[in-house]
Amino acid sequence: MLATRSSTLIAPYGSKLVDLRVPAESLAELKAHASQLPSIQISPRSVCDLELLATGAFSPLDRFMGQEDYQRVLDEMRLANGHIFPIPLTLAVEANRELHLDRDIALRNHKYELLGVMTIDEIYKWDRTEVAYKVFRTQSLSHPLVAELQSWGDLNISGRLQILNLPRHYDFQDLWLTPAQTRAKLASMAGHAERVIAFQPHRSLQYLDQEFAEYIVQAVDGIMLLHPAVGLTKLGDIDYYTRIRIYRALIEGRHLSDRFLLSLLPLATRMAGPREALWQALIRRNYGANHMIVSRHHASPGSPSESTTFYGPDDAQELVERYSQELGVMMIPEPKWHETLPGVSEGSPAVSIARPSIGAGYPTNGHTSPRWFARPEISEILAETCLPRHRQGVCIWFTGLSGAGKSTTAEMLTWLLLEHGRRVTVLDGDVVRTHLSKGLGFSKEDRDTNVRRIGFVASELVRLGGVVICAVVSPYRAARNQVRNMMGKDQFVEVFINTPLEVCEARDVKGMYAKARRGEIKGFTGIDDPYEPPDDPEITLDTVNYTPQENANFIINYLIEQGFITVRQTNKVKEQ
Ligand code: ADP
Repeated sequence: MLATRSSTLIAPYGSKLVDLRVPAESLAELKAHASQLPSIQISPRSVCDLELLATGAFSPLDRFMGQEDYQRVLDEMRLANGHIFPIPLTLAVEANRELHLDRDIALRNHKYELLGVMTIDEIYKWDRTEVAYKVFRTQSLSHPLVAELQSWGDLNISGRLQILNLPRHYDFQDLWLTPAQTRAKLASMAGHAERVIAFQPHRSLQYLDQEFAEYIVQAVDGIMLLHPAVGLTKLGDIDYYTRIRIYRALIEGRHLSDRFLLSLLPLATRMAGPREALWQALIRRNYGANHMIVSRHHASPGSPSESTTFYGPDDAQELVERYSQELGVMMIPEPKWHETLPGVSEGSPAVSIARPSIGAGYPTNGHTSPRWFARPEISEILAETCLPRHRQGVCIWFTGLSGAGKSTTAEMLTWLLLEHGRRVTVLDGDVVRTHLSKGLGFSKEDRDTNVRRIGFVASELVRLGGVVICAVVSPYRAARNQVRNMMGKDQFVEVFINTPLEVCEARDVKGMYAKARRGEIKGFTGIDDPYEPPDDPEITLDTVNYTPQENANFIINYLIEQGFITVRQTNKVKEQ
């Protein structure tokens, strides 16, 4: 009976699930071998990719791509053998003396734990511009992945993989299912396994429309695989825990709950819009789904400004539809009702668990609370975890030339924030260079490292609810955007201090411009080193016509508008 049922699930893409895990009996021997090998540490993103390669989620792909696969994927969205594959899944590394063809190398995570062994059979250069253009359709550093890939190594390596240890997941242990485990569960579910509908709830607007889900399950007469992509979730990311607890609460003990399977997908998303949607359809097929719900703007990073978007709203749906026959995964378009959020109208079936919409709109701005909000099990979870905006953290990042007025304005702003009852940390570039970044120089690489270090510390403090003011020249756009992406959505306020070079030079607070002009110091930003102004900063300040106090007040007003400071508190301070 079981055998018949499982045979009704769609076969993995390429007919067989790849499995790169070394059998138990060979583990000890390979571990001993690995301990003798040179090692490379791979990024958290590559660890996610490796996990999905190992368990067959990317079948029939069984390795990080070699050059032929990489090139055809960029040009035609296909592997060299003709299978559809829209995203270049590569392992980028820095040039390294230990890298040799036909040699084994140990792959380790950031904690230096051993993951597996690669037998290198290709080392090749890749082209950032081409990847950005072909996969992400933009060169804009506002796209989070285009910004991120600027810091990836210049070489891709490829070769046979033998996996010794998969990343361990300690939370929600029953929910991390491999493709094989997912298939086994689906196959045993109530005999509906011939129609499995994958649904990836959105990340930015995290909602699950339960009535819609129930409707689909009944209409298609199938099972819904609720499959949030949670690959790069950081430890302590409260939004993630909240989302998953809510999905679980929504499913458990409800009508048709035996037709839903919740499973966490350790996928590091690329935000590549249509290409990403197609990739997700391929991945879902390997998990046993033959339908996928695709939203408008699917896997899109959202617009850098309201006026531009990276992908057309329907591009993702159209692309998945175009390949659906060949891939064996039917596209189900998601209804458009969610576009009405945050003010979900009465009678709408929307079930929103969007923290941003709660932070921004509920209940302070008087939006109608959606019906689901009354459900005690959901309200309880949200009450435990969702802080109001004025208790959430935020990073205020000053960027501009030396002498532009970053430190001066930052200091002024600090006083005002403290007065408004917020806790504040200041990370000043000059100060940070005496400890956190001691020893770093002023090459592009060192400057970017400095910015990323400050961003890392800031993001940890923001996560704990602090206001962090960073005052750093931070001349490169990509590095600043990377820091933006380390914070939660809307928790990064980029303040461009737009003081003309002549003014900064005339101020010459530290006498550095004079030295740079005399050639006594090299690589000074604005003189013989570039400064890339932000494309779309939240705030631009003019220090020629406005005083530091006026500018700091301008930022305070912005923070009040955004809800990071409550007006009530302001009044209280004034009344006392
Ligand atoms: P940065 O931190 O950007 O290198 P600083 O704040 O250390 O710049 O130096 C800016 C200098 O410009 C200070 O000496 C400050 O007194 C002066 N200044 C003059 N007008 C302004 C203004 N409107 N805003 C900020 N700084 C100003």
